[in-house]
Amino acid sequence: MTTSKRRYHITTFGCQMNKADSERMAGILEDMGFEWSEDPNNAKVVIYNTCSIRDNAEQRVYSHLGRQAARKHKEPDLILAIAGCVAQQEGELLLLRVPELDLVMGPQHANRLQDLLQQVFDGNQVVATESVHIMEDITKPRRDSKATAWVNVIYGCNERCTYCVVPNVRGVEQSRTPEAIREEMEELGRQGYKEVTLLGQNIDAYGRDLPGTTPEGRHLYTLTDLLYFVHDVPGIERIRFATSHPRYFTERLIKACAELPKVCEHFHIPFQSGDNEILKRMSRGYTQEKYRRIIDMVRRYMPDASITADAIVGFPGETEEQFEKTLKLTDEIGFDLVNTAAYSPRPGTPAAVWDGQLSEEVKKDRLQRINHLVNIKAAVRSQRYMGRIESVLVEEQNPKDAMQVMGRTCGNRLTFFTGDINELKGKIIKVKINQVRPFSLTGTVVDEVVKVEAALTV
Ligand code: SF4
Repeated sequence: MTTSKRRYHITTFGCQMNKADSERMAGILEDMGFEWSEDPNNAKVVIYNTCSIRDNAEQRVYSHLGRQAARKHKEPDLILAIAGCVAQQEGELLLLRVPELDLVMGPQHANRLQDLLQQVFDGNQVVATESVHIMEDITKPRRDSKATAWVNVIYGCNERCTYCVVPNVRGVEQSRTPEAIREEMEELGRQGYKEVTLLGQNIDAYGRDLPGTTPEGRHLYTLTDLLYFVHDVPGIERIRFATSHPRYFTERLIKACAELPKVCEHFHIPFQSGDNEILKRMSRGYTQEKYRRIIDMVRRYMPDASITADAIVGFPGETEEQFEKTLKLTDEIGFDLVNTAAYSPRPGTPAAVWDGQLSEEVKKDRLQRINHLVNIKAAVRSQRYMGRIESVLVEEQNPKDAMQVMGRTCGNRLTFFTGDINELKGKIIKVKINQVRPFSLTGTVVDEVVKVEAALTV
C-alpha cells in the first residue's frame, strides 16, 4: 500500500472533550493542507487521541500503536503521534515503550499541533506535556457532524475525585471568555449548525477563574450567566451543556434552563454512588440526599426533563449493602440513561492504592445488575414518548437502514424515521413517535401522518 503524502488520520478514544480536541486538531491539519483518511494505513500523519479513564481503552491504544510502529519501519516518512490523557500521563515513558513515536502531546497542547509538527518535520522527537496556559483558540475545528457541534467553555478541573485522572492530565480550570464562546457559536450558526453542546469536565465551575463582573455587576461569572449571554445566537436552535457536578448545581441554573427556550431540557448529572460513605471516599462533595433534592428541583421546574447520569460500581471497599444503595437510587430516580462503569484503578490516583480493591468477578456482577436495572427504567421512561410529536434534529442516515434517517429529540433520545438524508440533514423535523425502545424511538414525519389521516377520513 502506498502512503499518500498529504493525508492524516486521527483515532479518538474516550470522552466528548477528546472528540472536541480531535476535531480541533483535524481543523489544524486541514489548514496545513492535509486531507482526512479513514484508513490509518493510508495516512502520512497518524494520531491516536487517547483516554486513560479505563484500562481497556489504554490497552487498545497500545495495540493500535504497535501496528503503526511496525509500519514505520517500512515507511520511515510516516509521522506517528499520541495525544490525550495517556500521552499526558505517561509522557517520555512512551518513547521508551514505543521508540517509533514522533510526538507525544498532552490535551492542553491540542491547539499547538502545527508548531509541534513543525518541530517533528525538523527532525525532532517531541514530548509536549508541560502545563500551559491554553491560548484562546484561533483554529477552526473540522466538525464531524454538520448539525451539532461541541464548544469547549472550560478546560481542566480543580476537583480531586479520588478515582479520576483528569486533574492530573488536563490541568487546572481555565475558562474561556464569554465573548470568545459567543463568537465561536456565531460562526457555527453562520455555517448552518443547529445545536451546540457547551463542554467542560466540570462545567458548573465555569467562570470562577475569570476576572471582572457580570452585566448585573456580580463578581462571579457563572454558567447561568453564560447561557443568558449566548442563548440568542442566530441559527443555533438548541443548546446543551455537560458535564454537571452535583456539588455546584444551582437553582438559578435550573430556572435559566426552564426560561430559555433554546436550552434543551436534558441534564447529565453524574451521581457515581448512592451511598454517602462511598461518595465521601470519592471526594465528591455531596450526599445522595443532596443529589435527590437537585433532581426534585429539576422536575419541579421541568417535569418532562430528561435526566441522565454516570455511576461507578465496585469502588474500593464498596460493600454489597452500599452497592444496593446505588441500585436504590437508580430505581427511585428513574433515569433516561445511566453510563455505568466498573471501577478501574488508574495510576496516580489516590483510590488506586487503597486496600479493599474488589475482585473483577464482584465488579462484573454488580455492573450487570445495575445495567439490567438501567435498561428497565429507561424502557419505562421511553413510554412517555409514545404517540407524542417530537422535534428531531436530523444528524445522519441510519447505518442499519438506508431508507431511514436518525437524529435526536430535545431530551436527547435517538430517533429514527423514514427519509432522505441529503434532504433532511441538519433540519429539525416534527416526528410522531409510534415505537419506543429503552434508548431509542421510531416515528413518522408529521406531515405524512396528517396526509394519511386526511385520506382515511375522505
Ligand atoms: S469533577 Fe471529578 S470526576 Fe469530573 S473531571 Fe474533575 S476530578 Fe474527574
